[in-house]
Amino acid sequence: MPKSYRIAAIPGDGIGIEVVAAGVEVLTALAERAGFGIAFDHFDWGSDYYKRHGVMMPADGLARIKDHDAIFFGAVGAPDVPDHLTLWGLRLAICQPFDQYANVRPTRVLPGITSPLRGVAGPELDWVIVRENSEGEYAGVGGRVHRGLPEEVATDVSMMTRAGVARIMRFAFRLAQSRPRKFLTVVTKSNAQRHAMVMWDEIAAEVAAEFPDVAWDKMLVDAMTVRMTLKPESLDTIVATNLHADILSDLAAALAGSIGIAPTANINPEGHYPSMFEPIHGSAFDITGKGIANPVGTFWSATMMLDHLGETEAAARLMRAIERVTADPALHTPDLGGTARTRDVTEAVIQAVRGDN
Ligand code: ATP
Ligand code: MG
Repeated sequence: MPKSYRIAAIPGDGIGIEVVAAGVEVLTALAERAGFGIAFDHFDWGSDYYKRHGVMMPADGLARIKDHDAIFFGAVGAPDVPDHLTLWGLRLAICQPFDQYANVRPTRVLPGITSPLRGVAGPELDWVIVRENSEGEYAGVGGRVHRGLPEEVATDVSMMTRAGVARIMRFAFRLAQSRPRKFLTVVTKSNAQRHAMVMWDEIAAEVAAEFPDVAWDKMLVDAMTVRMTLKPESLDTIVATNLHADILSDLAAALAGSIGIAPTANINPEGHYPSMFEPIHGSAFDITGKGIANPVGTFWSATMMLDHLGETEAAARLMRAIERVTADPALHTPDLGGTARTRDVTEAVIQAVRGDN
């Protein structure tokens, strides 16, 4: 009996809708070629849903997707809906209850893509950033008093727990261990933040002792931006807090050539809940409806989804197809300096998937 997967597709807003449609087409062709089943249930949650219903997703939304094998997400956000509503109302409303505490962002310069870094042709830059995705600076702890008055006070508290830090460190060390270089950089800011970040460092050292075969070092987040731009070859696997990794991974995506290429996975490592896969870019209303969104970040995130499902061969096949297509400048979308359209790239990837033996 060939395996069969049931995927919850949540395209969201803007170009999210365009790139998820492209991803569904590619995954359907790939499944046919590779001999497994894949079925998509579409959920039209997001900003338009919000305008009609006053919420980003229905009250029973989580129950409707909790038994799917994975979630394939586009992007969320619209110019006329406040950002914190779209973020907390959908992305975090899924990530948090499904305990997707490990956010994984591979970063590589794909064939045919030019990094803005001088001297970087490709192999020098090959990272995986692990972002703590459940607490820290984005724990939502804090408040405002005396709103609008001169004496107003507002706080955002970075809340870290020993259990939360230990599990992300373990995840990161394990991931580093699975990669050829077996090397992890722990990003910190314990020189200025004297409580939670110091605990973060201590737990890193404790967990490191469980992985004697993994080499590791520690880096202040400010110095890390310099190292990423000037010594990219000195990095491999990276772990950072919610906020730090948020910022560093945008830098990483830019260094790899375009925000349109970068993928991400929100993983619940224990498999109690479905994990969620998406491109890192946003809804990009400036190019919505023009048919020029780069779908490569979505395709790459589909390879991560396949790996997660255990379809490693199909994942590798799709990655080869993506790299064949990026290698051809005629198939570059405008964000990469080309004139290709989403449709051209999608059809080329499907053809490469079908043709690859
Ligand atoms: P968010 O608020 O979630 O960050 P955004 O609409 O600001 O969303 P970003 O992802 O931050 O969008 O992207 C910034 C700009 O980069 C976009 O406005 C768009 O011009 C470009 N861009 C982003 N993703 C893509 C893509 N897949 N293909 C082409 N261009 C893209
Ligand atoms: Mg943006």
